[in-house]
This record gives sequence, structure tokens and C-alpha cells, in this order.
Amino acid sequence: MIKRTKTTKNAILKGLSRAEHAALNERPIELNTAPHDPDSQTAWMADGNCRLHPPATFFPSDGVGVDRARKICKECPVVGQCLEYALDSRIDHGVWGACSERERRRILKRRREDAVVGTSA
Ligand code: SF4
Repeated sequence: MIKRTKTTKNAILKGLSRAEHAALNERPIELNTAPHDPDSQTAWMADGNCRLHPPATFFPSDGVGVDRARKICKECPVVGQCLEYALDSRIDHGVWGACSERERRRILKRRREDAVVGTSA
């Protein structure tokens, strides 16, 4: 078994073509990352449907891409947790919890307005 050090990894990457590098970056998250700590506050991410798709899917550049990502999110078992995490963390980019950046901004604005109405009533 080859022990993967930074040097051996770089040597492997050096031998790859641009297309192979790109393909490596397009691999689903599940294949690229270490397992989540089950006790962490983001342990729910391990159950997200996005782990089966390339990360770029959730950072689309157009409306068609947003719809594609939303479709995946709508079937996701942790969609609610994901949306609240993105809202709490003020994540500006990408589709999280089946919502685009614009939709999350609207939700936050509505919540702020509701909070003001709630305190003044
Ligand atoms: S809701 Fe979407 S972005 Fe969030 S974990 Fe699920 S698939 Fe991933």
C-alpha cells in the first residue's frame, strides 16, 4: 500500500492532464472529504443529498442551475436544518436548503420585519 503524503499526492497530480484535474474537482463531495464528526454542529451535512453531487452543482451561474440544485435539495432529508444553518451563518453564495441567495435574503428580511412588528405590538 502506498502511503499518501503531500509529496506523493503532488506527484500524482503533476502527472494528470487539465481534464483529469477538472474531473477530480468535479467528484462528489463524499469521495473528496473525510467523514464528518457525528458530534459536531454540522453533523447533519453527512446526510445531505449534495454529498452525492459535485459541489459546483450548488453554486450555479444561472437560473437553470438553481432549479437543478433546488430539485436535489427538495428531496433532501436535512433540508430544514440546512436552510436554518445557511440563514444563521449568513451564507451569501450557493443554493442551501432549497433556497437561492436571493430567496434567503428575502426570508431574512421578512424575519426582521416580523420581529419589528412583534416587538411593537
Ligand atoms: S438541502 Fe441541499 S444543500 Fe442542503 S444538505 Fe440537502 S442537498 Fe445539500
